[in-house]
Formats: sequence, structure tokens, C-alpha cells
Amino acid sequence: MSPSGRIDLAGLERQEIEALFHEHGVPAFHARQVFRWIWRKGVTDVAQMTDLSKVTRAQLAERFDISTPAVVKREISEDGTMKLVLGLSDGRQIEAVYIPDTPSQTFCLSTQVGCAMGCAFCLTGKMGLVRHLDAAEIAGQVRVLAAATGLLDHSFNIVLMGMGEPLHNYDATMKALRILHDQHGLSVGPRRVTLSTVGLVPMLDRLAHEPVMPNLAISLHATTEEQRAAIVPPTKKYSLHDILEACRRFPLSKRSRITFEYVLLDGVNDSPADAHRLARLLTGIKAKVNLIPFNAAAGLPFERPSDARVDAFAQTLADRYINVSVRKSRGRDIRAACGQLIVEGQRQSAGQRLASAF
Ligand code: SAH
Ligand code: SF4
Repeated sequence: MSPSGRIDLAGLERQEIEALFHEHGVPAFHARQVFRWIWRKGVTDVAQMTDLSKVTRAQLAERFDISTPAVVKREISEDGTMKLVLGLSDGRQIEAVYIPDTPSQTFCLSTQVGCAMGCAFCLTGKMGLVRHLDAAEIAGQVRVLAAATGLLDHSFNIVLMGMGEPLHNYDATMKALRILHDQHGLSVGPRRVTLSTVGLVPMLDRLAHEPVMPNLAISLHATTEEQRAAIVPPTKKYSLHDILEACRRFPLSKRSRITFEYVLLDGVNDSPADAHRLARLLTGIKAKVNLIPFNAAAGLPFERPSDARVDAFAQTLADRYINVSVRKSRGRDIRAACGQLIVEGQRQSAGQRLASAF
């Protein structure tokens, strides 16, 4: 629902639009046309949907809205990474990032304003949760990024690694993925989408049964329960052990693996003993490890390890036959890198309340 009280078509799956049109006496086949205009052509002004009759256009314009997050600010990094600050209908802001040539084109989306999980090394976590995004706001970021980069007709990857914890906003996130997947729209295949999560076990089990299932990345970051609980608070509810068990039962297609993200914090979780323990923990899981050297930001009490230390950690894993990569930090000069997404001035008391309710 939009602020005007009218139904927002940008947050609906094609079949839902069909049902809605049917209710309103609009022929159902117009749903496919409208869906195509929105998602394939990026057109949200009904007046421009020229294959609909004038009467139908007037009818639709009167009854429905089609929302798009507004670009408030656009910053381009020296490495080509582009960060968009997007304004939502209630004035809240989120960030969405375009990362070029990795080797594919990648869009990094937010799923919440802020985040309730409170990881000690993450700026978004410092905001607390302000609110969940709805499906229109999550999928809409793709439309905005595609328009800003001229990639609407090209293939791109999507990573749910912006602000927020996607599995804490499960229904809206999955709905957005179904909208993006629809063959009459952008037709983004699930293999081109990676969902990154801190590991909310019941939601991981739910994800395991999704018909449109993205690639899975687990933010692990630690090799003992105590160490993880200290930097990733949800561990107190869902232990490292339980998360790894959920990964073991997670259905994977023949060629796919679960990515384990591991933020390297100098002197905290980056010792040779950690690397050995990590290799042991992943035994029996089709895994690959993505090491993310900590991206510093004011107010975060950690340091980035030296390159030599990062390499040594990676080498220890490689020696144990673990597929390992080190994430190159992109867009650090515009604060678009992992964990650096925060929109100032949104640390709300309501957000803090929601955060503590988690
Ligand atoms: N909430 C989800 C997805 C968003 S965070 C999750 O935590 O997985 C995306 C990735 O950025 C996560 O792996 C997260 O741990 C990492 N990250 C957060 N803060 C970081 C920082 N300061 N430096 C490097 N990586 C960071
Ligand atoms: Fe939330 Fe992910 Fe940041 Fe943790 S790392 S606070 S889960 S966005």
C-alpha cells in the first residue's frame, strides 16, 4: 500500500496483479503488459504504457500506484563502484551499490533500514533496526540500479549484502526475488542471486524449501562459540554448531557450494589456530570461503590485519584443500564497502526498540 492508500503494483507478483485487476474489472491480460512495462522497460508512468487503451490507462492511474525508490545521492568510486542513497516514501533512506566487473556486473541490495543483529564490526548494525523494507523497495533497487548503469537489458548478479539481514525480513525478501525472477520481467535466475545471512537457523530451514532458491552465503566470522557470540550477537540464540548443522542439511545442486564469509579482524579471529579450526569446522560441507579483510570505519573498535596475515590465513585453508578467495574491497573511498553502509541521522529510538525485540 502506498502513502496515498492506493495499492502499489511495484510490490506485487504478476499473478497478484492479475487477481487484483480481475477484482477491479480490468482484463487480466493487462497485468502481463503492466508487469513488463515496470520490470522489463523500467516504465512506471501508466500514461507511457502505450499498448494499453487510454481508458485502461486512466482507470489504472486512478486506482493504483507504482513506486520507485528515489535517488537522493549518487557517488562513484575511483574503482567504478557506484553507491546510491535512495529515499523511500516515508523519508527513510537506504543504500544500494553497483559493483562493476567482478567479473560480472553486480548489484548489492539492502533488505532493511538498519539491522537488528548488531554485529560488532558493522556500521549498519550500529543503527539498530529502523524498519523492514517491503518487496517493492527491495526489488525496486534493481530497477533503479539498472537504470543508473544502463544495464536493464543486460545480465547482472544480485547480492543481498547491503543494509539489513535478509532472513530477518524473510517474506518480503523472497517475494522480491520471485518478482525479479518472473520471465515477463527481469528474469533474474536464482543462480545469479546470492543471499548473505548471519544464520537464523529456522529461516535457513525454510529457505531450503523455496522453489526459487538463491545461492547461500553464511557470515561465519569465528571458529568458537564464545568468539562468535562476542562479535555476532545472534549466536547466543543460534549457535555456530546449529548453523553448521543447518548448512549440512541444506540442499545443494551438484555444482553449487555454500559460501562462508569470514571478516578478518586483526588479533581477534585471524590466527593460524583460527584458520585450522575453520578448516575443521567445514569438514563435510561443500564449502568455499570468502575472506573479507575488515573495512575500518569510525566507531568500530577493530583493525584490518596486514596483507601478510590475510595471505597466511588463506594459505592455511588452501593447504587443507578449501576453496578460498579474498574479497577485494570495492568503493572504500565512498564508504560503499561491506559493513560501511549507514545512512546518517536514522538512529531512531523506534529502531532500537525493534532491535531489542529481536
Ligand atoms: N546481514 C547479512 C548481509 C549484509 S552484510 C550478513 O551479515 O551476512 C554483508 C557482509 O558484509 C557480511 O558478511 C558482513 O559480515 C560483512 N561486513 C559487515 N561489516 C563489515 C566490515 N566492517 N568489514 C568487512 N566486512 C563487513
Ligand atoms: Fe546486520 Fe549483516 Fe551488519 Fe551483522 S553484518 S549487523 S547481520 S548487516
